[in-house]
Amino acid sequence: MEDLRNWMKDNDENKFRAGQIIDWLYKKSQWDFDCMTNISKPLTAKLKKNFYIEIPDLVKKYESKSKDTFKFLYRYRDGNVIETVVMKYRHGNSVCVSTQVGCRMGCKFCASTVNGMVRNLSSGEILGQVLEAQREVGERISNVVLMGSGEPLDNYDNVLKFLKMVSSEYSLNIGQRHITLSTCGIVPRIKQLADENLQITLAISLHSPDDIRRKKIMPIANKYSVPEIIDACRYYINKTGRRISFEYALARGVNDDLKCAEDLIQLLKGLLCHVNLIPVNQVRENELRKSSLSNIQDFYDKLHENGLEVTIRREMGSDIDAACGQLRRSYLESKRYRKGVENGWDLVRCRQSEKTE
Ligand code: SAH
Repeated sequence: MEDLRNWMKDNDENKFRAGQIIDWLYKKSQWDFDCMTNISKPLTAKLKKNFYIEIPDLVKKYESKSKDTFKFLYRYRDGNVIETVVMKYRHGNSVCVSTQVGCRMGCKFCASTVNGMVRNLSSGEILGQVLEAQREVGERISNVVLMGSGEPLDNYDNVLKFLKMVSSEYSLNIGQRHITLSTCGIVPRIKQLADENLQITLAISLHSPDDIRRKKIMPIANKYSVPEIIDACRYYINKTGRRISFEYALARGVNDDLKCAEDLIQLLKGLLCHVNLIPVNQVRENELRKSSLSNIQDFYDKLHENGLEVTIRREMGSDIDAACGQLRRSYLESKRYRKGVENGWDLVRCRQSEKTE
């Protein structure tokens, strides 16, 4: 709003025009300048000359069999595709956005990183995912998680601007307490984020209580150690008063024995936090396998008995390849993708013609 008001002023237009345009964009989901009927023709022409509205094209939409998870494959103007997921919960609709095209963090279990990073997404491109997904599901999105493809803290400035925009009263007005940013643990950026005075939840993809194991699955562990990450988390908690969420994807024989659980308890003791256990979603390119249900339960029990707040993440949408980067990767290998051979995809709608792909 502020930027647009300033632009109006600099261009000899009345500042209140900014409010009208913002209203069209966010309240009326009107993303064509020509259809903003209370804007004069000359101003419309000026707007079209100076701006474009960054809403991605919906290429594919998938719906899980349980009808509570939707996955969208979106394409930006430069042809890059990314994925966005909507999960319907009783408490509201949650959108999981991508922050980069691909990712350069190289985590072993993650499909987003298989082809490296292509580019950062702009703040508008990230916001466009929320707007388009909201229009598509036809219901208000009340929660945002930055857990799609990409490392949000590797695209810091754009992500920060996105956080401010999506929570602004002028746009979607999503409370910062309903926003979660997930990071693989870029220590200086965690501290910087703590200083921004936001009320968002920070999630750390920890996946291991020690550096030796962590280095085997997450290259970033060679740069920042687990103790350094925990220090940064303490700083974040002190600055914001917010509870940290630790994500721990359980892979068979890698990080799922009870010794890991014990080490995790020691590591997190006394910290204002919550642990989210995730059965690892199997990705074709690696040998990581899901822990057995009994193993997951034992791991959970151990943490729980020792006073940690812990949950096991409900798996939603694994039948539509909803884990990080899997759909885009399949899209890039379009032959397999068209056949939809792998997980019995339920293709709901395709707005674009096949030949444009
Ligand atoms: N780069 C950020 C956000 C994207 S990943 C981060 O590392 O946190 C979002 C979450 O999905 C992370 O916790 C990541 O570890 C997890 N994830 C990625 N691939 C997965 C898989 N195959 N199975 C289970 N969790 C996965």
